[in-house]
Amino acid sequence: MSNEAYEAVIGLEVHTHLMTKSKLFCGCSTEFGRAPNENVCPVCMGMPGVLPVLNRRAVELAVRAGLAAHCEISPRSIFDRKSYFYPDLPKNYQISQYETPVCRGGYIEIQSGDGAPKKIRLVRIHIEEDAGKNIHEADASLVDFNRSCVPLIEIVSEPDIRSAAEASAYLHELRGILRYIEASDGRMEEGSFRCDVNVSVRKRGVSELGVKTEIKNLNSFRFVEKAIEYEVNRQIATLESGSRIAQETHLWDPVREETRPMRSKEFANDYRYFPEPDLPPLLIPPAMVEEIRRAMPELPSDRRARYIRDFGLSSYEAGVLTAERETADYFEGASVGLKNRRTAANWVMTEVLRIANETGQQISEALPSAREAGALLAMVEAQQISLNAAKTAFAAMIKSRKSAVETVAELGLAQVSDTVAIASACDKLLAAEPEKLAEYRAGRDKLFGFFVGQVMKAMGGKANPKVINEILKQKLAG
Ligand code: ADP
Ligand code: ZN
Ligand code: MG
Repeated sequence: MSNEAYEAVIGLEVHTHLMTKSKLFCGCSTEFGRAPNENVCPVCMGMPGVLPVLNRRAVELAVRAGLAAHCEISPRSIFDRKSYFYPDLPKNYQISQYETPVCRGGYIEIQSGDGAPKKIRLVRIHIEEDAGKNIHEADASLVDFNRSCVPLIEIVSEPDIRSAAEASAYLHELRGILRYIEASDGRMEEGSFRCDVNVSVRKRGVSELGVKTEIKNLNSFRFVEKAIEYEVNRQIATLESGSRIAQETHLWDPVREETRPMRSKEFANDYRYFPEPDLPPLLIPPAMVEEIRRAMPELPSDRRARYIRDFGLSSYEAGVLTAERETADYFEGASVGLKNRRTAANWVMTEVLRIANETGQQISEALPSAREAGALLAMVEAQQISLNAAKTAFAAMIKSRKSAVETVAELGLAQVSDTVAIASACDKLLAAEPEKLAEYRAGRDKLFGFFVGQVMKAMGGKANPKVINEILKQKLAG
């Protein structure tokens, strides 16, 4: 039987840091990359007798995430202690939410393989604290508590995902939303956006779920896709050989590109959840939800729809321009004074994204401001400079940080539309090329391009090609 007879069923659990300045239950900084144990205090080091105080901003960001994902916001939720024993968690429990998450239900909409929209439903979003980090050296294990107590949300999807590509689309969309609403920076490489993948397979047409495995340790989109593909194939082969799937936790090995089961004692947890006695219930009145809703920035899907509807961009173009909020903001900033939004759209999709890619920097670091880009493009629209000249000017502006107007003047890039000058160059050329002129008049239309090229050359490449065309046509007709 071929793999086509089976269907993959996937549910994702995403953990992401919330972009608060201070930690979830104490005033320590959340800044990444500080020296070990610089951002710590008795609370986040789990000293006996300390009391947690909930960070209001973390709650607001969690609610923002919930609203962006169309969740129901719980008016009352409680925190629970999740017990486990590991050196990076000195309290021996993590403060999390179990039966009453702050957000329930909701969905993330993705484009499935055939381009049709598909809703991936969410089970819940809950708030919890991160643990510290164990660092194993040759003769010792060290613990860094900087990350301990950094606020996280966990976003749990229903098992609605059916392929590695859909999982990737879901993660990209979710990450985009969280970045747009400034809930999370989505930096996978810094561990602030992490994902556990639950995978099972079943025969097509069967409605019961198969036994799942959970894959941990996935810190890039590519690994998520590869791990799913590997695991789906492994499960199908296992079933086809007449064996059963064991419900277990696997780790992705990025070097061997395969998943392998963790030893059972590594995941056989009994969390013994119970309500956190040191925190009162978390109450979120409707007025607070409304306040947060009003302060929400536009979501990527809404921007995409607006670009298609109002600017006449294609769905592909709108997707490229809105993939990062920074790109979309730059595009809108650059197109403010333009006649045609498409001038800016094309510029951003080619020049801006290429340069940002090449330098590996943020647009704001690598490029002139959106306003100056817009000023340059306005000169292209007004036919004061050619598109090529704009590229030259832009490259110079990146280095000099001078304005568009100044740069165009300094480099002498202004296009000559002066009809007198162009007409005189045309006259000179036609006088110097009597044979070609005769050939043209005898019917060799192709020579028109030659004449345009020669006039352009005579004018140092700066003449407005449209004006050359018009003047030459008149003269050749006459
Ligand atoms: P567990 O109790 O093992 O943590 P949950 O029911 O909490 O399992 O689900 C965790 C994640 O696994 C969710 O994202 C859910 O959608 C997904 N999931 C649950 N059952 C399956 C299954 N049979 N196949 C694939 N994913 C599943
Ligand atoms: Zn602290
Ligand atoms: Mg679970």
